[in-house]
Amino acid sequence: MENNNEELLMMTGFDTYVPVEPEDEKFHSIYISGADRENHKGITEKSGLLQIRGVNYNLNEVNMIIMHIKEIMVNKVNERGEDKTLCFSFKDSFPYKGINGKTCPAKREDRERDSFCKNCRSNIIVSGILTEPSGKPILDNNKKPIFGFIRASGMKYSNISEYLQKISLDTESQYKIYEDLRKERSIANPKKFVTKITASSSYSTHWKKNFSVFSLEIGTSIPKEVVEKLIKLQATTIQDFIDKFNWAKSQQFVNNTLNGANENSNDTDGIIKNMEPEKPQVQNTVQNNKSNLEDISFDDVPF
Ligand SMILES: [Zn+2]
Repeated sequence: MENNNEELLMMTGFDTYVPVEPEDEKFHSIYISGADRENHKGITEKSGLLQIRGVNYNLNEVNMIIMHIKEIMVNKVNERGEDKTLCFSFKDSFPYKGINGKTCPAKREDRERDSFCKNCRSNIIVSGILTEPSGKPILDNNKKPIFGFIRASGMKYSNISEYLQKISLDTESQYKIYEDLRKERSIANPKKFVTKITASSSYSTHWKKNFSVFSLEIGTSIPKEVVEKLIKLQATTIQDFIDKFNWAKSQQFVNNTLNGANENSNDTDGIIKNMEPEKPQVQNTVQNNKSNLEDISFDDVPF
């Protein structure tokens, strides 16, 4: 297997894609099933319920503390029922450039006038650590926090972007971490609450039908000391986040795009196709409804 990879790398200049099992992903996709479907664990994922790929299935709500938020720009077309991504940019500099080398106009009106960029769409990737409603982190078998993510795109965009706007302006918490307001809003505020995610539906007048969307609301408040620890955790995990979501740096993605392969099924909102072998499950979450803040201890969590 490894030898094959090396040979292919020499021949093609591209690293071959080594599939990651859902349970071993660093960031687990949170999505809403469109139809009942049996997954790789033999569990039927029920339509309209929340799924955390590789972690837990058929949930009415998912709680997480938001850690990383990233805007990306995606230009994709649907060809014969298959999504094909033509361009992508990870908005980490301005003006942002797509993987095709084109600079994408920042304003929607300017994109509309551009024959290529009129199909560019903003998405937001929001990842965080999974918690119980109380804010107590859900840990894996190695006692490490588990990261989940949602992707705001299409009909799912507005609820998520409005929620992020609301928490960045936070008027509820009683403490501040930074002097710098910009840092407070973007780094500290999203971590000051548990974000409760549920599934709902939204009617599209364009498509004349309902689409599943995420609803987000502010949950349990997180104490200042914990937010400070979470900010440290963010610093140690940002590179993993970039590695996962900056597809412009992913040879696999570029390779796939050049070959016209699609991004992934919309069902999982995943980034790169996964193989789905059997794998031991992470420990099941014991749901308790305590909302006692003393319950939220990160002392045993290795960062
Ligand atoms: Zn563009």
